[in-house]
Amino acid sequence: LSLKDEVSKLTQKPNMVVIQVGDNPASNVYIKQKTKMAEYVGYGYRHLKLAENVTEDALIHEIDSLNMDKSVHGILVQMPLPSHIDANKIQNAVLPLKDVDGLSDINAGKLFHMSDGLFPCTPLGVMELLKRYNISVLGKHAVVIGRSNLVGKPMSVMLTNAGATVTLCHSKTNDLAKYTKMADILVVCVGKPKLITSDMVKEDAIIIDVGINRTDDGLCGDVDYDNVCNKCSFITPVPGGVGQMTVAMLGNNLLNS
Ligand code: NAP
Repeated sequence: LSLKDEVSKLTQKPNMVVIQVGDNPASNVYIKQKTKMAEYVGYGYRHLKLAENVTEDALIHEIDSLNMDKSVHGILVQMPLPSHIDANKIQNAVLPLKDVDGLSDINAGKLFHMSDGLFPCTPLGVMELLKRYNISVLGKHAVVIGRSNLVGKPMSVMLTNAGATVTLCHSKTNDLAKYTKMADILVVCVGKPKLITSDMVKEDAIIIDVGINRTDDGLCGDVDYDNVCNKCSFITPVPGGVGQMTVAMLGNNLLNS
């Protein structure tokens, strides 16, 4: 069943609140995509925009009242936050059951322990993409580049939980190509245009490009798509690949919440 069909069968419409602090242009784009998804699927949706100079205490107070509001099922605090606010503290202020971004310590622990919870949308989107294309990860060597709490680290845990043998690389990795050349599945979550070139990938590898980079030529990923696409068996484009899956999985998390 599609998400839209599942939501149409519910007696109570799921409601999500997105909190934005300030007016970051990239955040405005991401919030617009989330609004469109919510409208399409049939969710209730509220965008709460707070001033750039809102205090950490005032923001936590807002989150607390949404935590207690039974008509609100999902709360998402759009990152990045201004530097005077501790992002980790804010992510943990959201009730884990309403944490549709899956970024609280409790949900990270649940992912680690393979229990039910709400998990970060981008790596969830990658797992869903692999599933929909009937790509089994069991026994495969998956190499993940990037170790952020948002993408790389949960990605490596999800692949491990699904039975892949995982290597996690980052900026301190010596000889990155040594690892990327061994990957059956390569997931790149760095934020550096064309970091991965065709000489760095194995023949017929499966390439998932998570990176989104704004360049003078427009949006591009972390993989040199035009050259790598002739060598691999699957590759995700940027834009139009993992980004759309991320928004879809947010919708899924709200349904689960
Ligand atoms: P991040 O927090 O900046 O993390 C980047 C990671 O890449 C870090 O772990 C860093 O290593 C590693 N790294 C940096 N330079 C490297 C290099 N030369 N070689 C190997 N590793 C390197 O970024 P993020 O939030 O994870 O996002 C990563 C990218 O994905 C960005 O382009 C972002 O826009 C994109 N993104 C896309 C989606 C989507 O829906 N498609 C969602 C979220 C993010 P250290 O830890 O050692 O610094």
